Amino acid sequence: YQPLIDLATGGVEGYEALLRWNHPERGPLYPDSFIPLAEEIGLIDVIGQYVLQFACREAATWPRHVKLAVNASPLQFRNGNLLNIVVQALAMSGLEPARLELEITEAVLMDRSAQVATLLDNIRALGVGISMDDFGTGYSSLSYLMNYPFTKIKIDKSFIMGLGREPNSKAVVSAIIGLGRSLGMTVTAEGIEMPEHLDYLRDIGCGQGQGYLIGRAIPGDQLPQEDERRNVA
Ligand code: C2E
Ligand code: MG
Ligand code: MG
Repeated sequence: YQPLIDLATGGVEGYEALLRWNHPERGPLYPDSFIPLAEEIGLIDVIGQYVLQFACREAATWPRHVKLAVNASPLQFRNGNLLNIVVQALAMSGLEPARLELEITEAVLMDRSAQVATLLDNIRALGVGISMDDFGTGYSSLSYLMNYPFTKIKIDKSFIMGLGREPNSKAVVSAIIGLGRSLGMTVTAEGIEMPEHLDYLRDIGCGQGQGYLIGRAIPGDQLPQEDERRNVA
């Protein structure tokens, strides 16, 4: 679980579940090395369901103001059962729906199917949040923002890492923050590694931040107890 902090106060607002596989011979494996394979061989639905159930159960033990973000593969949205899987994970864990957010990428929306739109509306109707992950890297994210019930935009880490290096990154990042604010969505900056990037993002009014500077992903049983505050704000 990697912390998501309120950039204005430094307080932890939630954690994103990031899957790891402790392979008996190869050691800990990162998702990029096995999620694409799981998608290819048809195991992503069962893995996705496991992640959701497991993470909701852990999050139900956290302080009530702390949310849980779970990544979902585009393929899970082709499974007609996803709504039930979400409902079941919430019911089994007792986690309040408003404490869960699903992170999806634009790939989910590319086929513009009515089925996906209805599914997103139904998930949203439960009270669960929907975040657009890796924002800015796809094709036509802007029309998706208008047509689907997103509650959060996560600015892709490539833009954050480019701050101070790529002359245009500042313009892009501040435009996304303004856009999110106008649409009433939370904006999260991913990939914050440098103190000057954190300061800049806070100064221009970015709501939430995530990155190695703030904290790396750690196992659930090592999360700080109580209402922790980090000394980064
Ligand atoms: P993501 O959802 O965009 O997650 C953010 C990734 O950026 C994570 O990599 C995180 O460790 C990394 N990160 C966070 N802060 C920093 C930083 O300051 N600098 C840098 N360089 N990287 C940072 P991770 O854990 O390797 O996950 C990679 C991707 O795998 C995720 O990208 C997500 O798309 C996918 N993924 C992770 N867990 C799951 C899961 O349970 N299900 C599915 N379907 N996909 C998952
Ligand atoms: Mg994510
Ligand atoms: Mg991302």
